[in-house]
Amino acid sequence: MSQLHESLLVPAAGFWPDRRGERVHVRWLGTAGFEIRYGDHVILIDPYVSRCSLARCVAAPLVSDEALVRRLLPRADAVIVGHTHFDHALDVPAIARATGARVYGSHSATALCLGGQVTPSKIVDVEEALVAGGTGSFISEIGPFRLRFFASAHSKLVLGRVPLPGDIDDCDAVPMRLHKYRCGAVFGVEISVGGRTLFHLGSAELVERTLAVHNLDLLLLCVAGWTKGDDVPERVLRALSPEAILLSHWDDFFRPLDEPVRALPALQMPTLVDRLMRASRDVRIGTLPLLGETTL
Ligand SMILES: [Zn+2]
Repeated sequence: MSQLHESLLVPAAGFWPDRRGERVHVRWLGTAGFEIRYGDHVILIDPYVSRCSLARCVAAPLVSDEALVRRLLPRADAVIVGHTHFDHALDVPAIARATGARVYGSHSATALCLGGQVTPSKIVDVEEALVAGGTGSFISEIGPFRLRFFASAHSKLVLGRVPLPGDIDDCDAVPMRLHKYRCGAVFGVEISVGGRTLFHLGSAELVERTLAVHNLDLLLLCVAGWTKGDDVPERVLRALSPEAILLSHWDDFFRPLDEPVRALPALQMPTLVDRLMRASRDVRIGTLPLLGETTL
């Protein structure tokens, strides 16, 4: 791990104010993936643990490592899919089948799950619900969690464009090659549980006009692509004003989870941290080890 990432590791004590009662556990799964646990309830966001090698990504259709999925993620009440690029969505059907979790996602995520033999009644099409609701956000409750979805955007990562735009509209032929994992609609999601509020931004871009988030304790922020948008750090802080930020999606996800973490190239993380701290002097910024957790 580079020095910067080590210096950002969330300390075991002191990062959160002391608190009595049930705590909210947040575990980083690598990429933009998180497990949020409260009591006996678990939700997963953009879980991608199979981490196919670059060689496999190029050469063959992508397949979930189902044994690893079952070992690492044995329980889930819900799985949230922020968008359907493979590094956010590949493992979702396998997790949903193994755990019986409800899946929240776009038309694309719905198509992917139906193709992956997920029970149709377990799939919530958030894109459809947002349009039907007409209020700019869609709220759903599951166990102690209150989820609120907002339309969001993907960073223009590749030559000023969103990589693999468009929808997955037909995946009768699963497993699919990497390029078939089209982005689909993109969501940011607010998660409220146990008196705490978290927000997940799975790509380094946002749509401020739809966002109405208050008293945010923790922002789960994607790093990859942050330099490709205009003033992303400043806009994120203005729109969301979090108390603390966990940086995610900075790791090289072509390496398996049991190898030492390595940062993606050209992320300019020191500059990102510097700009976040300049935009809000009080914000606490950290990252977790792969599969590490913090409690708030
Ligand atoms: Zn993406």
